[in-house]
Amino acid sequence: MARDLSRRELLGGLVSAAAVGVALPARAGAASAPAATTAALDDAVARSGNVIRLGANENPTGLGPAARAAFTAAIDEANRYPGRVYQTLMEALTAKHQVGASSIYLTPGSGELLRSATLAFTGPSRALVTAAPTFEAPTRTAFATGVEVRAVPVTAEGRLDLEAMLAKAPGAGLIYVCNPNNPTGGTVTGAALTAFVARLKTVAPEARVLVDEAYFEYADEPGYATLIPLAVSDPRVIVTRTFSKVFGMAGLRVGYAVGQPSTLGDLDAHGIDGTMSSASLAAAAAAFTDTDHIAAERVRNQAVRRFTREKFEAAGYRVLPSAANFVMIDIQRDAGSFGWQCRQQRIAVSRPFPPLTNYLRLTIGTQAEMDEAVPVILGLLKA
Ligand code: PMP
Repeated sequence: MARDLSRRELLGGLVSAAAVGVALPARAGAASAPAATTAALDDAVARSGNVIRLGANENPTGLGPAARAAFTAAIDEANRYPGRVYQTLMEALTAKHQVGASSIYLTPGSGELLRSATLAFTGPSRALVTAAPTFEAPTRTAFATGVEVRAVPVTAEGRLDLEAMLAKAPGAGLIYVCNPNNPTGGTVTGAALTAFVARLKTVAPEARVLVDEAYFEYADEPGYATLIPLAVSDPRVIVTRTFSKVFGMAGLRVGYAVGQPSTLGDLDAHGIDGTMSSASLAAAAAAFTDTDHIAAERVRNQAVRRFTREKFEAAGYRVLPSAANFVMIDIQRDAGSFGWQCRQQRIAVSRPFPPLTNYLRLTIGTQAEMDEAVPVILGLLKA
């Protein structure tokens, strides 16, 4: 079994806020040891424009037409508190998921839910079980509150190792299951996850399971399924979703959890006191019901993801199976300094994700963006 990862290793790439304002190197500048932090350069690059943003798993196409129209129309209601439009979104969500309103908890982004679930269900004697690498919000919260983190390495294919996570579960308060997993893109099947939750009942009866389905709409692997039906019937399970990915609303901040009312009440006790703007809620309601646009966006992502995978594989680089809007590429060198080289070419890529520090996570942009970025990245790899 792999050794346990230290806090520093798990949260690699943390950067200092003090270094903002670095000058942007010339487009064809030679790579040198980073003189400032990645965040500082990202910031400089973003402000300079003309950047291909492949670092944050955002949707490159923006709001769909229905969401854009709803967002614009919401200006006329800007003087009103967002009660009515909140109801509209709740009605869309409850109809789709076949649950009552008390089984849905809306928050400004789903990251907030990961934080409040960690606060609610972990503690001095209730560890967090998570993966390595995976989305780090629960890990950060656990470290901040002194909670033990048991990080289980993903499989060689980048999927969650449910068997190994089960072995680490006794005594845990929360098990974080990111499916598809960010940053690897791998999925586990609905059947495997359902069996996992059933076995947990014996191994760790107190443990809650948070299934993060941020990339649900993109997931296209056989056997992949939502765990929402289980969250409705089992108080130990919570599913989170976000409007930041396929719906193109990362800047508008809307996410939600589905679970039993008492479970969501525990989250609420640790949640932030506030809500989203009426424009965000209106856009979310319109985006959620614009099923044609979601389907088209899924197909677009699939095609560009295939293109990206094939280019890197043809050049001899291994790409992990991905069911999301990003791919994880084994670039056979340190992803931190390589990311720096990419940024110098005005291509924003992600930081490294320990322990897979030789892998580059690349968000799937538009076809035009990938047509431009992929040859540049491959050129840097050959140099
Ligand atoms: N979960 C996962 C797996 C993510 O990748 C992200 C954002 N990249 C989030 C949650 C948080 O997203 P948001 O707060 O924008 O809903």
